Amino acid sequence: MYPRIIIETHHIIDNAKKMVNLAKSNHIDYVMAIVKVFAGHLDFLKPFSQTGITHIGDSRIQNLEKLKDIELPKVLVRIPMLSEANKVVRYSDISLNSELKTIKKLNQEAHKQNKKHQIILMFDLGDLREGYYHSQAYLDDVREILQLNHIELLGIGTNLTCYGGLVPNSDVLNRLVKVKNVIESELSVKLKIISGGNSSTVTLFNTNQIPKEVNSLRLGESIFFGKETSYSKEIKDFNHQNYRLETEIIECKIKPSLPEGTTSINSFGEKVEIEDKGLMKRAICAIGKQDVILENLEPIDPNISVIGGSSDHLILDVTNTNYKVGDIVSFNVNYPGLLHLMNSDYIDKVFK
Ligand SMILES: *Cc1c(COP(=O)(O)O)cnc(C)c1O
Repeated sequence: MYPRIIIETHHIIDNAKKMVNLAKSNHIDYVMAIVKVFAGHLDFLKPFSQTGITHIGDSRIQNLEKLKDIELPKVLVRIPMLSEANKVVRYSDISLNSELKTIKKLNQEAHKQNKKHQIILMFDLGDLREGYYHSQAYLDDVREILQLNHIELLGIGTNLTCYGGLVPNSDVLNRLVKVKNVIESELSVKLKIISGGNSSTVTLFNTNQIPKEVNSLRLGESIFFGKETSYSKEIKDFNHQNYRLETEIIECKIKPSLPEGTTSINSFGEKVEIEDKGLMKRAICAIGKQDVILENLEPIDPNISVIGGSSDHLILDVTNTNYKVGDIVSFNVNYPGLLHLMNSDYIDKVFK
């Protein structure tokens, strides 16, 4: 069935093992693998959970709900909605949090479910997404959290290079270490986990720039694509070609490259600039913008280029090739490309 995405499971497992070792040699003892890019399609999870990763995380509680059989502690990495507190306590062991009101609600739910729910308190070091701002007051809230009978403050964490593009370095990460020291000395607690960010922090491996207090990272793209995300550089010895999208050609004809007549906007309300390349051989594949943002596809055959498309059509320039109706065209996809494809019910997912 087409279109389909082929997932090289053994490459992913291999990357996870390599990441666990690489992280360990950088004093990162807790590797939380964040699997949200698979949108809950996690056929490889059993062997993946045995690679030495210590936690499994997702941004959506519905995806964690599917992982009841996996032994590892489950982490909800998007700070919870008040309205989902019941499910958060039921299906995750740990959640990232930044609002006292929400943490109190989690405490109530954990009480009802006769559980202890663990939290990692998030600190914003300047990227300006979630977390208590590191240089503002937070101790009163932490003191209240420590009073809650069904909440355990497991540690603190930060998220970088997501909204503001702030890249990690020792100065930035030491802001988190300072928070740890203040909390531990003022409130006489020991924080077990200091979570120093996501795949963008991987760029600091083997540079001595990760403070020794940081003992955990939450990693998705670096494991699944073998790339650090501060500068999008490939990590040496990791597998990088792990996903292949296959689509089927439904039309293939020689046509002009310029629309004939007066033009306005396309079906997405955009004015597109079209270059006149004369007559060209054009192929239409049965996939479209409702499945993936076309810019996130890279044709594997270098003789092909993406011209554009609409909700259900992808148009390719296949001039000087032998492609014909019924042929399959393959693409590499990047992280956002995979994310959208895994979320589309119209894409067959094939785990090899
Ligand atoms: C998605 C996410 C991660 C993992 O990010 P990668 O760049 O894929 O490593 C970590 N933490 C949070 C809070 C996330 O939302």
